[in-house]
Amino acid sequence: MKITLLPGDGIGPEIIDAAVEVLNAVAEKHGLAFAYDHQLIGGAAFDATGSPLPEATVKSALQADAVLLGAVGGPKWDDVAPALRPEKALLGIRKVLGLYCNLRPIRVSRFVSHLSPLKKERVENVDLLIVRELTGGIYFGAHKEAATDENGVESASDIEIYSRPEVERIARFAFEAAKGRRGKVTSIDKANVLASSRMWRKITAEVHQKFYPELELNNLYVDNCAMQLVLNPGQFDVVLTNNIFGDILSDEASVLAGSIGLLPSASLGDGTGMYEPIHGSAPDIAGLGTANPLGTILSAAMMLRYSLKQEEAAADVEAAVEKVLKKGFRTADLAGSGLTVVSTSEMGRLVAREIV
Ligand code: NAD
Repeated sequence: MKITLLPGDGIGPEIIDAAVEVLNAVAEKHGLAFAYDHQLIGGAAFDATGSPLPEATVKSALQADAVLLGAVGGPKWDDVAPALRPEKALLGIRKVLGLYCNLRPIRVSRFVSHLSPLKKERVENVDLLIVRELTGGIYFGAHKEAATDENGVESASDIEIYSRPEVERIARFAFEAAKGRRGKVTSIDKANVLASSRMWRKITAEVHQKFYPELELNNLYVDNCAMQLVLNPGQFDVVLTNNIFGDILSDEASVLAGSIGLLPSASLGDGTGMYEPIHGSAPDIAGLGTANPLGTILSAAMMLRYSLKQEEAAADVEAAVEKVLKKGFRTADLAGSGLTVVSTSEMGRLVAREIV
């Protein structure tokens, strides 16, 4: 199985190394063979080649079964021309790979639930999956930059636009994901105001009735969803959203888990999928060996599940992470009294050792 590794910048190389240690343990236990191809992306790629997304990286990703990414960016590249900034490479590679579906699971481990900004009892049973449409909607509709009309009034606009096939494929994805979970999809919209949302709601209901009548479908206005995520996040199983609502709600939901270092993500299309932790390159702690690699390790678990179709191996990695947390090992971001603080690489090794 070909895996393109894109460590990127800042803490990227450290967290990817830790994830590879875990993948190697999985390979040994499950008799899998991973061929890793290390490629450059972001600032590191810009420094070496003059481009944040070199041709060789694109080629490798297109030929791979999956891509595992660390993070890109940092103050070193603040003055680089906008088109060549490290972050541009992320949009570029998502586009090249046609990644239209973004998955963000939020599961709050009971061993770290006290770190959540919400009360422990409110987050302890949280296990939700946000399925966000990633290549349509207002971010990709026509943008009219600010301009002044003949009356001297300045205006600007952005258009929220979705087509039936775009809504159908993301809705199907959400229902498929719900099948392997608790069977409940909550579709988010603003159908009381927006025409695009009314179509979203109609098509989602059709997909539900036609292909997944055995599953549960609920609709929630986005403003109510924002409230419910704080009031009662345990009620959600799969949350289906368009691009812009998903952008906002997934960041809101990500704080439930207590540390940004814990959360994985996947971006999927019809070909190669890409997996990355939700955080950035954390330049403030890069090279110190203190970064939390668990978000990256859990992203590798998602890669095993969704792209490499190794469900047992994925579950093994997730269980190993829980075991290490249960034993009291923590990276600095999760530290507390009575716990053992370990480095990035030690955390990788501890998780790998639990996979036997
Ligand atoms: P960040 O996520 O890198 O860091 C925010 C804070 O969280 C920092 O204090 C950092 O030390 C901490 N943190 C992040 N990941 C951690 C981990 N694994 N373990 C422990 N602590 C962790 O966000 P930022 O500081 O706003 O951005 C830094 C750079 O990353 C910028 O150049 C930004 O553009 C880029 N960025 C990249 C991505 C990506 O590659 N997908 C995403 C977001 C930001």
